[in-house]
Amino acid sequence: MKDIVTVHPWKVIEDHFDEEIHPITESLMSIGNGRMGQRANFEEPYSGESLQGSYIGGVYYPDKTRVGWWKNGYPEYFAKVPNSVNWIGLDVLIDDKILDMHQSEISDYVRTLDMRKGLLTRAFTAKTSRGKKVIIRAERFYSLGDLDMCFLKYSIRTHTDEVDLKISPYLDFNIKNSDANYDEVFWEDKSQGSKGIQWVSAKTKKTDFLVAAAVNNFLVKNGESIKPRESHQEEGRVSEQYHVQLGSEEEITIYKIVSITSSFYYNRSQVVEAAKDKVSDVSEVLYDTSLARHTELWADRWEHCDIKITGDDKAQQGIRFNIFQLYQTYSGEDARLNIGPKGFTGEKYGGSTYWDTEAYCLPFYMFTTESSVAKNLLVYRYNHLQKAIENAEKLGFEGGAALYPMVTMNGEECHNEWEITFEEIHRNGAIAFAIYNYIRCTGDHGYLKEYGLEVLIGIARFWAQRVHMSPDKKKYVMLGVTGPNEYENNVDNNWYTNYIARWCLEYAASCIRRYQEEDHLVWQAIGEKTGFDESELEIWDNIVKEIYLPKIEDSNVFLQHDGYLDKENKTVADLKPEDRPINQNWSWDRILRSPYIKQADVLQGLYFFEDQFTEEEIRDNFLYYEPRTVHESSLSPCIHAILAAKLGMKDKAYEMYLRTARLDLDDYNNDAEDGCHITSMAGTWLSIVEGFAGLRVKDQKLYLSPFLPDQWEGYQFTIMFRGTILVIDVQQDKIEIHNKSEAEIGLSIYGEQVHIPGDGRINKMLN
Ligand code: BGC
Repeated sequence: MKDIVTVHPWKVIEDHFDEEIHPITESLMSIGNGRMGQRANFEEPYSGESLQGSYIGGVYYPDKTRVGWWKNGYPEYFAKVPNSVNWIGLDVLIDDKILDMHQSEISDYVRTLDMRKGLLTRAFTAKTSRGKKVIIRAERFYSLGDLDMCFLKYSIRTHTDEVDLKISPYLDFNIKNSDANYDEVFWEDKSQGSKGIQWVSAKTKKTDFLVAAAVNNFLVKNGESIKPRESHQEEGRVSEQYHVQLGSEEEITIYKIVSITSSFYYNRSQVVEAAKDKVSDVSEVLYDTSLARHTELWADRWEHCDIKITGDDKAQQGIRFNIFQLYQTYSGEDARLNIGPKGFTGEKYGGSTYWDTEAYCLPFYMFTTESSVAKNLLVYRYNHLQKAIENAEKLGFEGGAALYPMVTMNGEECHNEWEITFEEIHRNGAIAFAIYNYIRCTGDHGYLKEYGLEVLIGIARFWAQRVHMSPDKKKYVMLGVTGPNEYENNVDNNWYTNYIARWCLEYAASCIRRYQEEDHLVWQAIGEKTGFDESELEIWDNIVKEIYLPKIEDSNVFLQHDGYLDKENKTVADLKPEDRPINQNWSWDRILRSPYIKQADVLQGLYFFEDQFTEEEIRDNFLYYEPRTVHESSLSPCIHAILAAKLGMKDKAYEMYLRTARLDLDDYNNDAEDGCHITSMAGTWLSIVEGFAGLRVKDQKLYLSPFLPDQWEGYQFTIMFRGTILVIDVQQDKIEIHNKSEAEIGLSIYGEQVHIPGDGRINKMLN
């Protein structure tokens, strides 16, 4: 754990410049607007260690798989999100010396990410070799008002001395990914133009995505515009050169008004023109009007998604940081986009979609914005159903069985470790569960006939073929899988995978039967489309009845997988501190043989299906597995926080919460320089809302059973539930709920039914 940023309820502040942690703060202060975004690189060139990165949602490059020995079925490529055009670049020469924070003498440095406004600012004083001082102030944002636009304002102010300034703003498409399997450049066919509006464009190799950036630069001194002296262009790069003399206490400001467009949204022939059009006929005033609109839109968003914590600024900063990063990464307008585990904050992981979306992120979007956003996340998978069927066919499945990819950009599998690609098939279960969860929470039953049932059928067919009857056990077994615990591969009968497979078969069958009885015409159409044969239902029923679910004898504990008990009976308390995290200190072989668990596995199942188990069963499993879990996946602590809260283990719940809330801000896992853990940020929200506040939806109704962690004075969050907006305020001794909508709502608090009239409030004592 590191002390990296200053604690502030709305801001992430770096109050001095520390080169050692620069790659970390570059990740933490990333900004984006759901369509594109970038790391917090400096505008001027920086010759120290830095990971340059700006990314565009939906645009990817299929980087040829790199493995030692090719095995049949391996995906051909790993989809990388290419590092894209550098639009922020500025060369600044002060008295003919280049400004570079790595070389120049600087002081009074402060960089702030204002999460309330979605604005990144940086200020510092630079001292020239002749001892002159200039004050620099930079700010930028990715517009929410127009998702193709980004804005930069950069001011230089003299102190007492005069200086000669040469400033050269540029756009540069000569960009490489630091994460490339064959050290290849992913962009080609670069072009540029410098007459009138300056622009650059390039297309991705193989996938042919065309991306263009156009800029209109404005340099203003004492309220007057200054024209550039000259402009340059070379392959993939355009720039303008300004030359100004500044007297004492004078200031110039340069505005870069930039549009970035791509063939993901525009007809190819219009990509460049669209970018140019957006920045033509504008003036620097657009910066201020766009910022005002952008700030308003962030304020609207915060209105529904904020969580206020009183009495603990660190926790407050943590939760807002998580919510902010989630919305910067994905805002849900486009069903072709998804939530990359690193969002726009780094290159690691590639792809954009993991099971993280359905298992962790969906509830966050479901309760903090219109349900169309959660629906888009589900439709994303519906649109990939055919690819999931093809993916299963590649592995030898048939008859419409669908195996969704572990990592994808376009529906195709693009993760290339066999133990994950072929074996971590539990992801199919989370995708089916998300359909159930969405319908349970939103009441949108129509989703099933429109889209959901086809997906459920494909998934159920996969499970029905993936199990087989064991001649020995006389039960259906599932061999050679990897559970959510990736610290063990190729195991047999992973309890979680078998359990969720059974649930999928049961749920799919029950949905089919309901349509068969209640809406035969709908069923006829889906049955025909999917080529469904009635005999499939019988097979599924049989598997549901006879699937093997391993358990530790004479206990309530479900066995993680066959053979787990042969492992050394050790817990995390037996590990030496210097061995942790084990994934950075032990060989992979040692990890695989050890009893240590990376993240919730059996407990993930108990979290999803809590109502199918007694509290005693959940407790016994928690007490057995949590002490063996190293939580080395960012997705781990939140599930444990929620279960601990349910079991009344408040301190444990809070301890787990802390590990998720400030995971990146405090660089808990020593890897924030690669980018932030975006998907696990939804887990932080879950820890508070489902954990501390005990929010559940059952039988069309909301349930709450809140507690207040001792460390806090109170917390307040807003949820959107079936057209109602509720503000839930948990205070020292009471809970107050404000129904901000017109319609009355009924809900349960600690098991007691209450009704809150439109625009009404109720208070209840805190248990
Ligand atoms: C976790 C996976 C997760 C992936 C991306 C891994 O470390 O074990 O469950 O899908 O990260 O977040």
